[in-house]
Amino acid sequence: MLRERIAEDVAFFSSDLYAQVCAGVIGTPDGAILIDTLALPSETQEIREYIQQRMNSTVRFIVNTHHHADHCGGNYFFPEAQIISHELCRILMDSKDRGALASAKQENRDLSNAQIILPNVTFREGSLYFLVGKRTIRIFPLPGHTPDGIGVLLEEERILFAGDAMMPLPFFRDGDMDQMVATLKTIAGMGLENIVQGHGDVILRGEIDEMIASHLIYLDRVKKEALNAVRWNWPVEDLRQIPIEKCGKSRILLNGLAPDLHYQNLVAAYQKIRREESVARVPRKPAGK
Ligand SMILES: [Zn+2]
Repeated sequence: MLRERIAEDVAFFSSDLYAQVCAGVIGTPDGAILIDTLALPSETQEIREYIQQRMNSTVRFIVNTHHHADHCGGNYFFPEAQIISHELCRILMDSKDRGALASAKQENRDLSNAQIILPNVTFREGSLYFLVGKRTIRIFPLPGHTPDGIGVLLEEERILFAGDAMMPLPFFRDGDMDQMVATLKTIAGMGLENIVQGHGDVILRGEIDEMIASHLIYLDRVKKEALNAVRWNWPVEDLRQIPIEKCGKSRILLNGLAPDLHYQNLVAAYQKIRREESVARVPRKPAGK
């Protein structure tokens, strides 16, 4: 696991074992705020030890940035913590994640003790604020990757923990591409110093504009390719013929997971366009009848 200090009492962790998934911690005089857990129990345990031994603290709050198990599957390591999320995150964890964990347990013995622990502090819109020491911490929605995405902003230091709203490759299979575009534009306008992504390296101030511009170009190209496929009535499998490079991103991103995520993006875009088209095609009743 990679560990890096980003500011006073603020660190981030990135997995060596699964898709460079990230978590973060903010130390406060009243205990630590953990932002996400990591995918595998051994790495979440390492974070717990770091907080106990190096920060001399315990986790008082966990923020789950969204319901995907690589971000919230380690909640059970912190039974003393209050868990904060979007209200939809709690609902999705309670439904989708339970089935997913049951099948993951069959495949991975390391997960045999894993349990789903649901968030107990949820919100739907607006922002939650924590005022701790000299810091103002704002927790607010960042949908697009999933509908329940939230981010954590250190207001004074302009450091954003973005969850999967920021990844080396935008990924919206479980979300919505148009919402993702809106969220990226919001992030671009926030005047940030650092972004801790849901996966991959920390993005520095000088890299943010270029990174977001490249994500927006990618999303635009994916949409155009999907529109073209719908127009020419391609079967969905043929979307595999549209390489990631054609949409401006590299296949080596995310330890080689990128081409598969790209295909899933194309499928999601294609299905959304089809759904909306079929709504538009419903014949109207002729006037007067
Ligand atoms: Zn995710």
